[in-house]
Amino acid sequence: MKTIKVTMIVTSIFLVILAFSLLGCHAKLTSVSPYRRAPGEIFLISGENFGNRQGSQVVGISRCRASIIYDVLFWMPEEIEVRLPSDLPSGNYKVFIYDDSDHTGSNSLDLWITAASVPLAIIDPYEVQVKSFRARYGKSIEWERWMLDNRGRYEAAFLKAKEAPCTRNIAFRYDTDPIVYEPPWVNEDQHMAALKAISDLAYPGYDFRFLFDGDTDYSYANAIAGIPTNESFASGKDVYLYYETIFIHEFAHILCIPHHYDTIAEMGMRRHMPPGESECLMDRGTNQFCSACRTALNVPLDVDTEEALDAAIAEIWRRYPY
Ligand SMILES: [Zn+2]
Ligand SMILES: [Zn+2]
Repeated sequence: MKTIKVTMIVTSIFLVILAFSLLGCHAKLTSVSPYRRAPGEIFLISGENFGNRQGSQVVGISRCRASIIYDVLFWMPEEIEVRLPSDLPSGNYKVFIYDDSDHTGSNSLDLWITAASVPLAIIDPYEVQVKSFRARYGKSIEWERWMLDNRGRYEAAFLKAKEAPCTRNIAFRYDTDPIVYEPPWVNEDQHMAALKAISDLAYPGYDFRFLFDGDTDYSYANAIAGIPTNESFASGKDVYLYYETIFIHEFAHILCIPHHYDTIAEMGMRRHMPPGESECLMDRGTNQFCSACRTALNVPLDVDTEEALDAAIAEIWRRYPY
């Protein structure tokens, strides 16, 4: 009896020591350098407890979703070097180490993945964004100059969009009474899906989530539909909508994107347009954004969603009673 008890105590102590040693062995990241990289480029992760070889561990990056970096150049106890995949969308990412054997993850650190490579000597974030978009999408030097000259119009939006979460929760509610759609939506889930469709198509790469009567404290923005007059507007993080389809325009204001026109009389007159372009949702001539608004919003310049976007907008429009 005594032997069993002693054995149990010894076993318990051993298990506690094992547990502590396992905890102590988890990978911990202390730095990622350099702080920004372009797709296909190499970066270094420093820290501790990485182990002598990769084993069951992987380097992960996440933005909208997590993915594994398979191209590992070397793996040492305090340093790992990896090469980014060549097809990543630009944006702020988290870097971490995941251990598949016990399903644990390390702490995570930031890495800004730019659209294309920009010399590290350039440190101004807005300039980096503009130069990376010019390189990735083949824009001209005139375009770059225009973007830098118009920093005052787009820098605030760029900084706000850069720090925003990938998934945008939008709390939806009616202003007073529900809109009497004809034909009606099957349910509000279908209605919210229709709003998500126009928003995801207007902002390629973003992930909108419309929550009917959602919590306005935890939302990124709020959509209030069915205001009495045709004067939709954005205020703070609230978007007041007469026609819901104008959400995609008003949401850009929440992200600090200005109109291209200075006065209402100039609407659609193609004022303040980047070189060679004539249409933008913020000039009300089309449902898509111009390259300037896209660069600020970190939306790719080579994605054309016009057809699907127009169809998704028509799907909401056709149900409006007014
Ligand atoms: Zn507006
Ligand atoms: Zn624009």
